[in-house]
Amino acid sequence: MNESTLIQNVTLVNEGKILVADVLIAEGLIQQIGRIEVEPNHNLIDGTGKHLFPGIIDGQVHFRDPGLTHKGDLYTESKAAIAGGVTSFIDMPNTVPNILTVESLKEKFDIASKKSLANYSFFLGVNGDNIDEVIKMDTSQFIGVSDDGLYFTKKGNLLADNPEIMEKLFANCKSIIAIHSEKEEIVEKNEQAFKEKYGDDIPAKFHPVIRSTEGCYDATKRAIDLAKKHKARLHILHLTTEAETHLFRNDIPLIEKKITTEVSVHHLWFSDEDYERLGMLIKWNPAIKTKKDKEGLLKALLDDKIDLITTDHAPHTLEEKQQTYFQSMSGAPMVQHTLNCMLEFYKQGLISLEKIVEKMCHNPAILYRMTNRGFIRKGYHADLTLVDLNSEWTVAKENLLYKCGWSPLEGTTFQAKIEQTFVNGNLIYNHGTFKEDIFGMPIDFNTKEKQK
Ligand SMILES: [Zn+2]
Repeated sequence: MNESTLIQNVTLVNEGKILVADVLIAEGLIQQIGRIEVEPNHNLIDGTGKHLFPGIIDGQVHFRDPGLTHKGDLYTESKAAIAGGVTSFIDMPNTVPNILTVESLKEKFDIASKKSLANYSFFLGVNGDNIDEVIKMDTSQFIGVSDDGLYFTKKGNLLADNPEIMEKLFANCKSIIAIHSEKEEIVEKNEQAFKEKYGDDIPAKFHPVIRSTEGCYDATKRAIDLAKKHKARLHILHLTTEAETHLFRNDIPLIEKKITTEVSVHHLWFSDEDYERLGMLIKWNPAIKTKKDKEGLLKALLDDKIDLITTDHAPHTLEEKQQTYFQSMSGAPMVQHTLNCMLEFYKQGLISLEKIVEKMCHNPAILYRMTNRGFIRKGYHADLTLVDLNSEWTVAKENLLYKCGWSPLEGTTFQAKIEQTFVNGNLIYNHGTFKEDIFGMPIDFNTKEKQK
């Protein structure tokens, strides 16, 4: 049951403004924003000195459900997300089975309706195996199609490596096409060279040399050129290099862009200087690159060449990570700390609160054409995150909610704390405790190309 809740005297961060107001929530929606009279049926929350953000929308996660649930599942990882202020997510297709058919997609929605505490949506997977079926479908019914992660299960089927398949898709697909952009032929050449020198025991610090800037840049450049040729709606996932940022525009509003991109929070947080300390724990594809790249990505985020921040939350067990180079799985869990990382950058004077909200809340909703989410507006779903900007805490095994039980951020002290998270008006996370009997909703989106 939804309750009537009045958050009083809270500092809203929304639509480029910061202001103190009261917010009334009832029936799952934001009913009123302003100075609001207290009524007997109101549950009161004192927001004095606290900041209220729209719930974070994470456009790229791998919650591992179905089929890889020893790493994480829709219940455990959505719980971790909510503790981190994330109220909605879009999950990638590289589960078992891979989500390559409408039937498997429907099944995933069904699992989520019984397990996910946050709101959810799912990409339809596309690779060499189902391309001919996908282009015959009414793709506008999907929030997006993506090849992300599918590469790992079938080598050679990565879209970025198959320009003919990519063109076929670009010419026929009506939805957003979100791709993992690296040129595998360049990566393989580099792998071979390092294997000759080090055998299987390649130090983690060479990961960004193997998965090089050249491999990313060439793939992204080619994908953008082909998308322009076919007027396709292309989204490049998890950008990692300063060089690639110059391939994107910032002279038109997001809603008009045909080519968009994102940065994942770990590519803003870590650099190659961290491989010595963390080794394979920070092995991601595409790789964490240099300090110059990290700074270039933040700059491009601030000047709007990069549209979104995602987590690419990709849990693996510690055993799966702590292997030699070729055996160690790529990816790591981040969803519980994504807002914390960005708020730490705010504390360091590197980004404003308004910009964080734009990139983590407003823009994902705009880019994926979501209905009534991503903003603190009257009539919108009450997805909200209450934050104390001055409450220090340290990431430790005991406070991790991931099923895999580890984080590359263990030992990191954050200055801000997420205190409460509302999902569809329900207080799901409240100072470390959860309401676990109310599940999230499938995310509605506009199937037409543009929204107002
Ligand atoms: Zn991913």
